[in-house]
Amino acid sequence: MNYTVMYWNRATGDVYEVIRSQMPTGWRLVTLEGETQEEWRAQLRQADFLLVADWPVTAEDLDAAPKLTMVQHQGVGHERIDKAALKARGIPLALCPAGTTVGVAEHTMLLILAVYKRLVAADTKLREGTWLQWGLRSTSHELAGKTLGLVGFGRIAQAVAQRAHAFEARILYHDPYLTERPLAASAWNAVAVPLPELLRQSDIVSLHVPTTGETRRFMSTSKFEQMKPSAILINTSRGAVVDEPALIKALEARIIAGAGLDVFEQEPIRPDSPLLKMDNVVLTPHIAAGTVDALRQKMHSVFANLQRFARGEPIHDQVV
Ligand code: NAD
Repeated sequence: MNYTVMYWNRATGDVYEVIRSQMPTGWRLVTLEGETQEEWRAQLRQADFLLVADWPVTAEDLDAAPKLTMVQHQGVGHERIDKAALKARGIPLALCPAGTTVGVAEHTMLLILAVYKRLVAADTKLREGTWLQWGLRSTSHELAGKTLGLVGFGRIAQAVAQRAHAFEARILYHDPYLTERPLAASAWNAVAVPLPELLRQSDIVSLHVPTTGETRRFMSTSKFEQMKPSAILINTSRGAVVDEPALIKALEARIIAGAGLDVFEQEPIRPDSPLLKMDNVVLTPHIAAGTVDALRQKMHSVFANLQRFARGEPIHDQVV
């Protein structure tokens, strides 16, 4: 049977090509036409499957999709999908951890090193004609020998631990929901500690938790005050996990030394955000998992899962 997959997200033509390259023969990808939600919802009528990146899926969207039998997320952050509405309609939701983990772990390393080595300042100044061979020396750091504190120790944090171990960092983690010490912790000499200990000891605090009632604005003024003044914050998880005004104050007041951020409370970042003017932060536009390698791998997994569903087999990474 041939199915129609609706890509419930705006992307570019080259991205749609990569998606199509991994589709089963005969299946059809519908991409969004028009500019209004009304026009997009009208196209939902054709969808057998919905493929979601970071757009919300609401009860109203589901009502506009009478043929829909399954929602497949191409990533793992499903907080914007109305799971109660899916459940009420008997429509399953599956995630796709494939591809995400390596991309985000590598991006975490990139942000740590970029903040530590003042990469953006060095590059920007060089292009402006200023050769900062000495000018950045007293504020540049090495990762070797530093303590990296991972908040959350799931898939991505464990992959970060593996990479940071190779860079000779000491690794701490805090994850109260793990029932046993993961094998990765032994392999990369990562030590579980209570959160206050992690904040107190870490040179780098890196966030790898989902957005939940408990983690929303988790990094608050009181948490920043527990960090070392020389410490940096890395966030490749979700913007909602950080109290952004509190972070801005902590950076301005030098309560912490710097930050590397891929995610923000509001995306795209507000054009008047003070973060844009700070030279001790490195900012990227939510691209941690956004490589073509990851996209190909994801689409391969996504369509394998949809085919499993179509054959009536159990699907992988089902959350509803
Ligand atoms: P995961 O589910 O494998 O790991 C999350 C871990 O957080 C779990 O081990 C869980 O026990 C732990 N946790 C939950 N609440 C906690 C708390 N209050 N304190 C400490 N630990 C807690 O998820 P993952 O695949 O590692 O993803 C981690 C995060 O990365 C998610 O927020 C996801 O949305 C985000 N992400 C970002 C991008 C990006 O492009 N920037 C891409 C993919 C995923």
